[in-house]
Formats: sequence, C-alpha cells, structure tokens
Amino acid sequence: MPPTPKRVAIIGGGISGLSAALRVHELAAKQQRDVQITLFESSDRLGGVLHTERIGDYLVEHAADMWITNKPEGVWLCEKLGLADRLIPTNAQFRKSLVLRNGRAHPVPEGFQLMVPEQAWPMLRSSILSWRGKLRLMAEFCVPARRDGADESLADFVRRRCGREAFERLVQPLVGGIYTADPERLSLLATLPRFIEMEQQHGSLIRGALRQSRTKSSGTSGARYGLFVSLPNGIEELVSALISRVAQFADIRCGFKVRVMRSANITRSVGEGGVTIQAESPLALANASGWSIDGETLEHFDAVILAVPSYVAASLLKEGCPTLSAELNRIEYASTVVVASGHKLDNIEHPLEAFGLVVPHIEQRQVLAVSFTSRKFPGRAPDGRVLLRTFVGGALQPELCKLDDKAVLDLVRRELHDLLGVRGEPDFAIPFRHTRAMPQYHIGHLELVSQIRAATAKCSGLALAGNYLTGVGIPDSIASGEAAAAQVMSDPL
Ligand SMILES: Cc1cc2nc3c(=O)[nH]c(=O)nc-3n(C[C@H](O)[C@H](O)[C@H](O)COP(=O)(O)OP(=O)(O)OC[C@H]3O[C@@H](n4cnc5c(N)ncnc54)[C@H](O)[C@@H]3O)c2cc1C
Repeated sequence: MPPTPKRVAIIGGGISGLSAALRVHELAAKQQRDVQITLFESSDRLGGVLHTERIGDYLVEHAADMWITNKPEGVWLCEKLGLADRLIPTNAQFRKSLVLRNGRAHPVPEGFQLMVPEQAWPMLRSSILSWRGKLRLMAEFCVPARRDGADESLADFVRRRCGREAFERLVQPLVGGIYTADPERLSLLATLPRFIEMEQQHGSLIRGALRQSRTKSSGTSGARYGLFVSLPNGIEELVSALISRVAQFADIRCGFKVRVMRSANITRSVGEGGVTIQAESPLALANASGWSIDGETLEHFDAVILAVPSYVAASLLKEGCPTLSAELNRIEYASTVVVASGHKLDNIEHPLEAFGLVVPHIEQRQVLAVSFTSRKFPGRAPDGRVLLRTFVGGALQPELCKLDDKAVLDLVRRELHDLLGVRGEPDFAIPFRHTRAMPQYHIGHLELVSQIRAATAKCSGLALAGNYLTGVGIPDSIASGEAAAAQVMSDPL
C-alpha cells in the first residue's frame, strides 16, 4: 500500500505563507515524499499587505514599493519564478533623501548612511545640524566603545555615540521611517546589529564606516538606495508569479478565516537513538465558513505553518499551546495609513529631486514621511505627473490612524502644501490603511524570539513564519516562510 501523503496546512496567504508553500513543495520533491498542501487565506485575495493597483495611468503600491537585495531571498525567489531579468534598480538620478528642518526640506548629506557620516565634508556643509551638533557627531570618533554587546534602544545608542541633535534631526526620522517605531523602545540588536558590530570591531562607527567605504563607493544618502529593486509592474508582479506557481500544486482556499486550531496530544519519549516523536492525533483546524464533518467544521493535518501576524497566531494557539500563545502576544504592532496621491508636477513648487522626505518627530508635523514614489522607478506616473505616498501614524502618532478617511486626506493635503508647496486638485488621493501591520522590535526582541522558538519546538508539527520574527522586510518574510517549510519537512511524520 502506498504511504499516506503528509498533509501540510499553511495559514496566511501573504508573501511568507506563499513562500512557505513553494518551499514545502520543493523539499517534498527533493525528499521524494507525497505531500498535500492546503493554503488558507481569510481575505478574498492573496499577497497580504503587498498589493499593486492601477489607478488611471498611475501604478500605485498599497504598502511596499521595493526591497533590499543584500538579503538575497527576494532575488532568489525572482530567479526561481523566471523574473530575474525583469528586476529594475532604483533611478540613480534621484537616489537621495530629504529631511525636514524648521519646516524646510534639506538634503541628507551625501554619504550619511542611517546613522554614520561616511564622508566628513558633505556633513560639515550640511544645513541639517547646527555647528554644535556637527562637532558632537564628529566627536563620535572619540566616544569609548561599549563592549558588553547588550541590547540598547536606538535612541540611547545614537545619543551616546553621535549626540542628541544627530539623533533627533537625522537618525530618528531615517530609521523611524523604516520601522515606524518609537526609537526609545526599538532594539538596535534586533534591527541594525551591524552598528553594534562596528562599535565593537572598530571602536567607533565613523572609523568603521571609513574603513568600509574604502572598499566601496556609494554616492547616496539616507537608505542605501542602490541596493533596492522592484519590477516593472510593481511588487504585485512577484506576488502574481508566486501565486501562479503555488496554484499548480497547492489547494488554495481564499475567504477562509481559520478560527480555531487544536494541537494534538503529543507524547515524546527519549529512545536510545535520540528523541522519538509520536503524534497520537494530528493537528486539527476548524474553519468558520468551510467544510464540515457532522456539523463540526474540522480538518486534520500532520503539520501547520502559521504565516499570520503574531497576535493572530497567538489567538489560534491559545488553547493548544498557551505558553507559546502568551509569548506571541508580547509582540506589539504599529499601524500606519499610506495616502497615495497623483499630481501635476507643475502644481508642486519643490523640484522633488530625491526619493522622499522624512520628518523628524521634533518638527511636530502630522506626517512621518513622503515618498516620491515615481522618482524611484519608471512607469509609476504619467509624463509630467508625480506619484506621492504620504505616511501617517506609526508608533509615535497612533491617534492619527483613527481619523476617518476625509480627515486623513485633509491632513495630508495641508501637510503636502506646507512642506512641498503642493497646490491644486490631485488626480486622485486614496488612503490605504495598514492596521497593526508593522511589528515592533522592542528591546529584548531577540530573546523573546528565542523563547517563541523554544515554545514552538514543543508543539510538534507546528512552524511559524512572518515579519515579526527576524526581519520586517520582504526578503526576511520570504526567508521566514522558507525556514518554516524546512522545519515541517524535517519532521519524519
Ligand atoms: C505600509 C508598509 C510598507 C512597507 N514597505 C516595505 C518596503 O518598501 N520594502 C520591504 O521590503 N518591506 C516593506 N514592508 C514590509 C513587508 O511588506 C511585510 O513585512 C511583508 O509583506 C509581510 O508579509 P507576511 O506574509 O508575513 O504578512 P501579511 O502580508 O500580513 O500576510 C498575512 C496574511 O494572513 C492572512 N490572515 C490573517 N489572519 C488569518 C486567519 N485567521 N486565517 C487565514 N488567513 C489569515 C491575512 O489576510 C494576510 O493575507 C512594508 C509593510 C507595510 C505595512
């Protein structure tokens, strides 16, 4: 009799869940195992927060608009899907950031990489910091290194090494923009460990950056924009190709919100050769709207990958794995509203010769950042027009996400007028709400993730994926899905 196939459920059809499905299929082929994959997605579309929409002649991203390539998983996935030749780099002409100071946009000094000036002269000439602030930043060279490797908040680390002004005027808006975080709570170890390594290896960030910059030339400022890519039809092109591939082998069920998950009674016995895992009954899923056995909606699986936000995973595991559920619930999330708007360039006073403007919290404005999205990649706006995406809310201004659509649109219109001189009626303006979509990597996050992993290991047949584990970006999410797939496929059951 042929062996019964291993049944794997994947809950969540974002990039993490879809990547997990593809990797389970690949590993099953490699191991010559018969595996049935079922993917449950609560909404009526796959892709999760990743969503590209055509609005007239604009190509509009709801959330992510590019991803970094120094974490290779995004590029590798494109290679597998036959998209490698379609990857497009960011437009070199406008590869810089602006930062607001006293209501005016100033360029981030060339060579300033998130928290370190790689070149002294552009920093000294910059109008963003006062002379006092510049001297304090340059004195970073002499600040003694802390070598205990302990976790520290972004704010504490940068104030200690670079001074308060560099933190408030440059680092908070540049890094806060990426994580929509409260820098007083953001863990440096979990988000930007390379700066801790630089301090430990070179005694100073500036010294470390100077040594590294001898081996590479950047010529950019802010984020390392030369490392980012997208696709001609936006991020959805990657998602669509991935969905088409996964649909060839998996049973995809959209509109299925998984509500209950019951863990099996697992007994573990230690035998001579190691640990033997015996599942007395398989993991069970109950679905609100779906299939039913004797009036109870239940289906059974040998393994489950949860590729949902940590608070959803926590609620699904509340009964079956209460310890794990409690750990997952400790991860906080921030919300943001992205207002996409299309404008005639003639209606904007500012030349917008950059990728965007970030707004320090001390400026006391109501927007976090404005991305000049059509400056980054071709084909995002018609000729003579520009696509802007304005970010509102985040961990520092959560109340703004509670405003209704009209109030958010009014607020963004006022801010764009004040900050960039945007006048007249836009071609369109639409708010995209991302409620509890940004996991917050607070101090102690790495330790918490280790505890989550230890608790997951006690729930046989269960693996977790998502952007709350080891990185918030698209490549991190893909990597988390692939790791979860490897975990469930390493189980002999
Ligand atoms: C505004 C914004 C901008 C961003 N910009 C960038 C960027 O420029 N570059 C970058 O690299 N990253 C960016 N990111 C981060 C990146 O997009 C995300 O980390 C990544 O897409 C998360 O994917 P995911 O699959 O883990 O989660 P999600 O996309 O959230 O997918 C989870 C899925 O699970 C489903 N689900 C939830 N509950 C259930 C249930 N009970 N049953 C079944 N299904 C369920 C949801 O409907 C959803 O489809 C951005 C994120 C946001 C929000």
